[in-house]
Formats: sequence, structure tokens, C-alpha cells
Amino acid sequence: MPQMYARCNNFMSGATSSVGVNCKYMAIGESEQQVLDQVFDHLSTVHKTDGNEMINTIKRAIFTKGTKVFGTRAPQEH
Ligand SMILES: [Zn+2]
Repeated sequence: MPQMYARCNNFMSGATSSVGVNCKYMAIGESEQQVLDQVFDHLSTVHKTDGNEMINTIKRAIFTKGTKVFGTRAPQEH
């Protein structure tokens, strides 16, 4: 199963709220909807923010593991 994830800092830094900047929270799920559910829960409990108001921003910050190149990660050695 593909794993999808979104870092709070990625979408909160682009929002008007200043509370979420540098938040280390990361939502991980097997689908975009699973990630969104966790993000909405996180936003309402931690940042007192309604995620529906920034759903487009959040969706742009959701990535699938393995599709994004991490330049700092060295290849696995045997
Ligand atoms: Zn957060």
C-alpha cells in the first residue's frame, strides 16, 4: 500500500495563522482521505483551526512516500 503523508509545517506556513509555523506534526495514511482526516483532527485540537477552510492548501502538501526525492538520504548499503 502506498503511504501518503503531510507535514503540518508545509501547509500551515502558507496560511494566515501564525500558530502552526515550525509545527513538527506529520500525518501519515494509506490514502489522501486518511491523511486529511488526521490533519483536520490535528488542526482542530492543536491549532483551533478549521481544516476545511484550507483544504486546497493541505492537499498540495500531501505527498506519496517514494515519489519525492530526498537529496539528503543516502542509498541503502549492504
Ligand atoms: Zn500542527
